[in-house]
Amino acid sequence: MRKRSFFGLSTPCFKYELATDASASPVAIPAPEQVTLYIKKPFKQASSTLKVGTPVQTGQRLVLNENDDVYAISSVTGTVCAMAPFLADYGNAWTAVTIKTEGNEVIDPEFSAAAEAPSLETLTRFLAAGPGEPDFAPLMDERNPVSTIIIYGGNADLLIDTSLYVLKNNIEAINAGIEVLRKATGIEEIVIAVPEESVQNYSGHLDARIQPFSSQYPYAQPLMILNSLTGRLPDETGMASLGIHFLRAESVAAIGKAFSTGCLTIEKNVTVIDKQGVKHMARAKIGTPVAALLKAFGVEVNDQDKIIFGGPMTGNAIYSEDLPLGPDTDAVMVQDKSIIPLYSDYPCINCGDCVRVCPANVPVNLLIRFLEAGQYAEGADLYDLYACIECGLCSYVCVSRIPIFQYIKLAKYELGRTLSAEEMNEQ
Ligand code: SF4
Ligand code: SF4
Repeated sequence: MRKRSFFGLSTPCFKYELATDASASPVAIPAPEQVTLYIKKPFKQASSTLKVGTPVQTGQRLVLNENDDVYAISSVTGTVCAMAPFLADYGNAWTAVTIKTEGNEVIDPEFSAAAEAPSLETLTRFLAAGPGEPDFAPLMDERNPVSTIIIYGGNADLLIDTSLYVLKNNIEAINAGIEVLRKATGIEEIVIAVPEESVQNYSGHLDARIQPFSSQYPYAQPLMILNSLTGRLPDETGMASLGIHFLRAESVAAIGKAFSTGCLTIEKNVTVIDKQGVKHMARAKIGTPVAALLKAFGVEVNDQDKIIFGGPMTGNAIYSEDLPLGPDTDAVMVQDKSIIPLYSDYPCINCGDCVRVCPANVPVNLLIRFLEAGQYAEGADLYDLYACIECGLCSYVCVSRIPIFQYIKLAKYELGRTLSAEEMNEQ
């Protein structure tokens, strides 16, 4: 267990968590009085299907307008009590739908009929807002056909137990999910990536080829796994050009359970890391406010403490305990204000620590100069932005405390937006 700040060392050597038989069962968080779910479309005052007062059932698809393909899945039975715009990371405009929970849970029947025949359309229509938030769009892209699905059984960041817990305790559901994926997509090559020390736990139990990865950080980063499997990294077009698609183990387990039972999974496993660095495993409905999760473990958040979705190297800070657990939130970490390392506006002193630590050999000291100036395309062309596997080690070692990792994520996001706009113009 790590108790000290993640800043201050110059030669980090971190190990991921390993699956152990000692993992405690998750604490079940009771259904909260309200859940908030995001529909990843801008809020419009007039929605044809959803408004304040609309009754909803557990497992119901929530869309703003009929025929929308962007949706959330209600994790409770109740009544919509608020709808509002929500500004997500990088300025993404979404709609926040808050539902007041009612006592008697009623399961929406729509999925159970569709579950009888697994198909990619059914996966896309019902499972994309479930645990792990799987992206099915690349599996439907005929221009860049996917030939290999990699089921990701590791945690991309340190201290997090979620994926290992799910993998270890849901082998039957994961095998059922693999069968559904094969039937629905026709893709036979399914690989499951697991930490090398844990291979014996899964060998012979999973209906997929097992690919071990090192337990040393950052070798379990999906991009590192991709690189070790193919010797390549995606360019600005993402994974599409490589014919490989990643799905989290929790998503595949949810797919398996859904098609076996006819009910969608509306809960999420999450690792809670408290201010002392003690870890807890929880299971809560998607949309549960973070405050309810923290209260269950006696974590008190004071002024200027930091709440982070994700792990210490690559997680994102959130600004309120009222924000909800999302389908892809694997960890919630709380840092006491006394140990929070602050970023600075000091200039780069060209010490070279970031270059020495970078597993992808990115000339970070040069790249950061372009990114700080907003010259993203130049940085990508000249200094190998797309070789970055997003591990955050450069930010960790930077003596000037420049938020390098955040600059890199922003640059990739902005370049991705430019590319999408160009593609739309060409159509
Ligand atoms: S540039 Fe930074 S975040 Fe990217 S791979 Fe190198 S060390 Fe990791
Ligand atoms: S960006 Fe930070 S770590 Fe890299 S050379 Fe500059 S001061 Fe050193």
